[in-house]
Amino acid sequence: MKLTKCRIIALLVIVALIFSVSPAWAVKTPVYLSRGEVAGVVLNAADDYNPGISKNEIMLGFEDGTLREKEPASMVQALVMLSRAFGELPSPRGDNLRRGVFDQHFNDVPPWAAEEVDKLKKAGILSSPVEGKLGASENISASQLNKIIKRIWALEGNNLKDDFYAAVNKEWLDSSQIPAGEARNTTFTELRDENDKRISDILNTLSQKDWPQGSKEQKLVDFYQSALDLDSRNEQGIEPVRKYLQAYEEADSLKQLIQTDININRETGNGQLLFYYLYQDPQDSSSYIMYHQALVPTWEKDFYSSPDKRDACMRYISRLLTLSGEDEATVQSVSKKIFNMEKELSENSLDPEEYYDIDKTYNVYTLEQLESLYPNFDLKKTITDTGYQLPNRVWVDDEGLLLKSAQYFNEENLELLKDYAKFKFIDACGFTLSRGFIEAEQEFDALVFGVEGVKSDQQLAVIAVKDYLPAYLGEIYVEKYFSEQAKQDVEEMIANFVEVYKQKIINLEWMSTETKERALKKLDYMNVKIGYPDKWPATLDNTDIKSYADGGSYFDNVCRINLADINENKAKQGQPVDKSTWEMPVYVVNAYYDPQNNEIVFPAGILQEPFYSINASPAENYGGIGTVIAHEITHAFDTVGGKFDEMGNAKNWWTEDDYRNFMERAKRVQEFYDGLEIVAGIESDGELTLFENIADLGAMSCCLEVLSQYENPDYQAFFKSNAVIWRQTLTRELADYFSNVDVHSNAIIRVNRTVVNFDEFYEAFVISEKDGMYVPLEERVGVW
Ligand SMILES: [Zn+2]
Repeated sequence: MKLTKCRIIALLVIVALIFSVSPAWAVKTPVYLSRGEVAGVVLNAADDYNPGISKNEIMLGFEDGTLREKEPASMVQALVMLSRAFGELPSPRGDNLRRGVFDQHFNDVPPWAAEEVDKLKKAGILSSPVEGKLGASENISASQLNKIIKRIWALEGNNLKDDFYAAVNKEWLDSSQIPAGEARNTTFTELRDENDKRISDILNTLSQKDWPQGSKEQKLVDFYQSALDLDSRNEQGIEPVRKYLQAYEEADSLKQLIQTDININRETGNGQLLFYYLYQDPQDSSSYIMYHQALVPTWEKDFYSSPDKRDACMRYISRLLTLSGEDEATVQSVSKKIFNMEKELSENSLDPEEYYDIDKTYNVYTLEQLESLYPNFDLKKTITDTGYQLPNRVWVDDEGLLLKSAQYFNEENLELLKDYAKFKFIDACGFTLSRGFIEAEQEFDALVFGVEGVKSDQQLAVIAVKDYLPAYLGEIYVEKYFSEQAKQDVEEMIANFVEVYKQKIINLEWMSTETKERALKKLDYMNVKIGYPDKWPATLDNTDIKSYADGGSYFDNVCRINLADINENKAKQGQPVDKSTWEMPVYVVNAYYDPQNNEIVFPAGILQEPFYSINASPAENYGGIGTVIAHEITHAFDTVGGKFDEMGNAKNWWTEDDYRNFMERAKRVQEFYDGLEIVAGIESDGELTLFENIADLGAMSCCLEVLSQYENPDYQAFFKSNAVIWRQTLTRELADYFSNVDVHSNAIIRVNRTVVNFDEFYEAFVISEKDGMYVPLEERVGVW
């Protein structure tokens, strides 16, 4: 479902899988290096790549013949030494071409250093935050040098001991292409593309037959064909939405506008102003609570502050308004107003990581409290007109956003609210209309995420069926492509992990018996879903899906499906929560822990190679699907999921001391994963990615424990298999975006920063203090 306002889904469905030289140097106050120290560091870093090179060969002597080893090293002196130490560098290919920076010009490089600096520049490994300046004469800090060395190791990519991730995945990283219309390629997306080919075969085969009206096959075929029918869609243009846009335009008071929006919501499932929906109550997982939010910015926070992104957003808004028939003068002024309003909303909303903090997002209002925010209309009437009964309590996740939104609901802002509603409506359903809308989105993706090429109409239609008919499609998919053997194997693995986890908890030194009992109980109560649901949802059984030939349209079909979802939601009011439902379609290559159900879920889509194979060794399967499973289990005990008890209620089950101990460990993990380079010039955020990193660390610890029980465990195969499942290549633009919003660490960090905390890794690959992957024992981290 395209529920643009349900950001909360991100919170509660959550915790899905997806997205060193000497760390002593990673201290926050810069440590500057002398010329002699730089020489020592770069010679050590380069020893496996350019053996035999000596200090005298890399250090530039002064005219008097001295090396002046004690003097501080400047950036440019260090770069020249580095360049000489490594000698010839490989030409960047594939992923290294995408990671590198190639378009910089420095005008502060002295002539004597130009050649060596140029060589490093061509390798893509120099990046400076200041335009035109390398900072050539400034002193170089240890962490600056460390970063540049790591970029070279990633570029060389042939030494497991310096850059494990790059070396294991070298061939793939060098040759991997990003598919047209996308900004990245990963193990997950490759497998998804294979699944999509199968799904496309299913749909094309079904399309060759006539199916009884109302059957799931008929609905799949007609929905798919309506998406594919670009001729009819182009011919209709904005006709399907014209009357709704007009209705918004004709509203001449705030009350009338709100009523219009509610009517449109009841007809299309697409209201824009006041959003009500029932979700599982975070403090009582067996019942539903009404959720409310009002105006919501279209994009993440940094889209409104970064100039490049702002231009792309403005262009997108303008294009949509033009396509919906507005004249040029109106488009210009209105897009600015909409953007500025969204910017203001965005500035008052939570930061990305705050959405995962239940203490910040669980705010319960009485109806009266909510009413007091909206003095200019009858709030109760809007709830009943939307089709819900009046609740006693209403849940608000982002209070700052709601309070700011509420301030817009007055007569002075009538025109602005109308413009906002029209834009949001067309933004929500434009993808069902003519090609111009598809192109507007493609242009936006190219500008913001560096996407090249576009997806075919057929690919887009397959994606639409996956999004809108997941139950019908899923049922056919698992009949054809899911093996019961996989289900059995995974069940067995899960049972092993739970046992190991119990032992781990029992043996913990920092946790009291009281809290241990609750943690063990949480494991005992943990529910497991594997492959596909026991019963398929019947949401769309009474929904008509029609082809254009039968008088339907893609727009109508999408509206009917949205309405079916909303009607199903309304019917939940006052009912107990049905915990058998799945939050992900079965063909999705992903997995999740749902803290409200205290359950781990593994859709059929991920139970395939390279995550899992009947033919793979246990070590390989543990490095693949094993770490995925243990990762999800660990989410029950990370800084997000750990706030929910065994019944899935957000209630504290820790003693104060135990929680403090836990958070001390978490804090160390946060620092350990913070400020690391993702691609040249873009760094990781240890706070944003904390709970996912805890899950990765817990998963690896758990898998190694299970693997150690085998005879002659093949740790090399285990670690390599793990590095394979996380590999990815992406545009710099997407890397930048993810660094601000993705709770998962970037692949290189996810692998390299996790494995270094385990003895088995050092032993398996004979890593010593001289190697890039080495982290001193006292600096290693882990919570579980
Ligand atoms: Zn996760």
